[in-house]
Amino acid sequence: MRRGYLLAAWAAVSVLAVPAAAQQAEVSSTWVRAHETFLAGDELRGRGSATPDEAIAAAYVAAQFQGAGLQPAPGMNGYLQKAEIVRLKLQAPITLTVDGTPVAGAALLIGDGKGVEGALRVVPAKALSRAAPADAMIVTGDQPAMQVYRTASQLKSARLVIVRESADTKALAERLGGEPRLPGYLRGTVPEGRPALVVLPAAAFDALAKQGGARAVLTVPVAEAASVTTNAVGWLPGTDPKAGVLLLSAHLDHLGVQPDGTVMHGANDDASGTTAVLELARTLALKGRTKRGILFVAYGSEEIGGYGARHFIAHAPVPLDQIVANIEVEMIGAQDPKLPAGTMMMTGFERSTLGETLKAHGALVTSDPYPEQNFFQRSDNYALALKGVVAHTISGWAVVPTYHSKEDTVANIDIAFMTRAIQSLVEPLHALANSDAKPEWKPGGKPE
Ligand SMILES: [Zn+2]
Repeated sequence: MRRGYLLAAWAAVSVLAVPAAAQQAEVSSTWVRAHETFLAGDELRGRGSATPDEAIAAAYVAAQFQGAGLQPAPGMNGYLQKAEIVRLKLQAPITLTVDGTPVAGAALLIGDGKGVEGALRVVPAKALSRAAPADAMIVTGDQPAMQVYRTASQLKSARLVIVRESADTKALAERLGGEPRLPGYLRGTVPEGRPALVVLPAAAFDALAKQGGARAVLTVPVAEAASVTTNAVGWLPGTDPKAGVLLLSAHLDHLGVQPDGTVMHGANDDASGTTAVLELARTLALKGRTKRGILFVAYGSEEIGGYGARHFIAHAPVPLDQIVANIEVEMIGAQDPKLPAGTMMMTGFERSTLGETLKAHGALVTSDPYPEQNFFQRSDNYALALKGVVAHTISGWAVVPTYHSKEDTVANIDIAFMTRAIQSLVEPLHALANSDAKPEWKPGGKPE
């Protein structure tokens, strides 16, 4: 139903009783600016993933949900959902011994935190993809280390991959920030195993490359660093429990304070999406109950690996098969010059009927002009899509120049565009929440 029609219908019903609510059910640029100013303000220090700053952002969103009249979601006592993230850190230098003799200068670049023991097999990089099974491999040749590592990771047996130090491995170590990449995981889940990638100084490597069959033992002394991430969850119950549920989501965390003290404000990424969820919550609550229930969620810790969304999915307040559609809102703070004026893009638009359904009801969304960027796979919608839920992300300018820069501030976002863009979603979502029609994947659209 289009907005003009609905306003006319209201006016016809009662001029006295409805106008106040009707006015408030409009998305307000004042509220948009207010939410942005708080969430992306200096005081929240960039809402670093799984930090106390993120928790304050979540508490703010929760308070707004409560103020808008939302209820705690089924099975929840309040509006906050917390999860513990465990990240492994190297506690002491790794050791590598070969036939009992320590190898000096061994450095770990990537691993899963586990030690490895096995007979060393020398494999030329070119032959790696068809190498016979071995726990420990020393890979000769001058292919880039990451390429070697990826190929080795495909082999079921490989647990330790040793490469020779080069300009390439030095650059890789620098990209990793001088620390090995070790897994993070939600407490209670098991991190995926992956081989250890170890670099040896040239001389040590060359000596070792002559020692095929020797017994290699890698020890990786790790310690756990735990932190807590927070999701904010609000619920508008529906009138028909069998009609299913809509899920509207965004991520509330950003990059926080950098080691050099720079605050990454994240006004666009993703205070803008969080603001959209808040304004949709407020306006849809004012419009009254719909057939379908609506879940509103602001996830924590998207930026460091989608932990908040993963925890939510594992502890969803309603069974996932009741969620008829998920819309994630990401970075709607700037308008994409590639798109028609005023419009947003929906990632994976062609994959399901959701985008065209919303568009037919007036949503200012169109297809994604950057299919090569795989944005459909790069946001919190994807974990749900993999579970079969019709789940997409709506974005403004997904390749905006301020992306992940300190320039992503309130001064550099377009409040008027955001306001109109969010407003354009209110009626289409309200209609969808009152509809019996279920968005469906198109043939071949559902990710496998
Ligand atoms: Zn981001």
